[in-house]
Amino acid sequence: MKKEITQAMPEKDIFEPPVEGAPASAEDEHIRPRSLDDFIGQSALKANLRVYLQAARSRGQVMDHTLFFGSPGLGKTTLAQIMAAELGVNMIPASGPILERTGDLAAILSDLAPNDILFVDEIHRLPIAVEEVLYPAMEDFRLDLVVGQGPGARTVRIQLNPFTLVGATTRSGLLSSPLRDRFGISLRLEFYSHEELADIVMRASRILGIRAEHEGALEIGRRARGTPRIANNLLRRIWDFCVVHGRDALGREEASGALARMGVDEMGLDAMDRKILSVVIEHYGGGPVGLKTLAVACSEDERTLEDIYEPYLIRIGFLKRTPRGRMVTAKAIQYFKHKNQSL
Ligand code: ADP
Repeated sequence: MKKEITQAMPEKDIFEPPVEGAPASAEDEHIRPRSLDDFIGQSALKANLRVYLQAARSRGQVMDHTLFFGSPGLGKTTLAQIMAAELGVNMIPASGPILERTGDLAAILSDLAPNDILFVDEIHRLPIAVEEVLYPAMEDFRLDLVVGQGPGARTVRIQLNPFTLVGATTRSGLLSSPLRDRFGISLRLEFYSHEELADIVMRASRILGIRAEHEGALEIGRRARGTPRIANNLLRRIWDFCVVHGRDALGREEASGALARMGVDEMGLDAMDRKILSVVIEHYGGGPVGLKTLAVACSEDERTLEDIYEPYLIRIGFLKRTPRGRMVTAKAIQYFKHKNQSL
């Protein structure tokens, strides 16, 4: 007999939230789309990118520097890898906070083969001194390095191989304008529709050998906050429930039961989303409340609130950013009343 998914489960696996911004696991790498044809959704962006790639290939020239912006988990790293694959070049990954010194960046740049892609994730977090080394490198493929100190200091100029810088950032507004202006191509990733997420889930299931039904995938799509990384994480966690409870396919019922156990509601809100909304409503009369105060009240990092939680709450019209702080909307209050959820 099938066991009910609502029965008690070992807690450790169940409440593990989808981790955003964490390094990709081997399984994540396995399901990452390898070509533009495999990459689901973002049709306008994909159509333009296809043209830019084709133009660079047919001119035999290096591709223009490209900036991707969009929330975590929407596919920025995946697109950078696809660009490299389509151009037949290497992609060297780096990230803003890791490139601490100008020497770190200079070492990577001088090692690049012609037309390689240097991918810098979280490019808005590059230290300013490192960013300044990047300007002549982006414009003229040139490094101007200061060697030595004091009166004996001199500038050494190094010619680099032509390369493409692909930058990723969660919001373009976080980038300094001299850096933003040096990107010839800027592409924004949008949140995905429920159907697109269901397709992404079905594709990942096939690769991972999970027997998912379309209705189950759609249920995941509805609750994955418009984000492929979350959809794929939910798929794997729900499949854990199916395995433990002896279900041989992941249908709508299995998805709903497991998602309820994981504390993910019909809108895709999890415990932290509800905490954010409840703090604003209960402690600050619906707002406005400043980000710093909200972060302390929720015991969460300011950047995590801004980059991971707020964009979705704003997108579904539950939260507003105003000059005086964050405010919840009547829609959010209504939703919780309707659901009879305790805030
Ligand atoms: P970002 O760099 O924006 O944080 P990633 O490129 O690392 O996001 O994508 C997160 C995960 O989501 C990847 O493992 C990838 O498998 C999956 N993914 C992202 N976009 C798509 C897509 N359009 N189609 C299928 N899978 C996707």
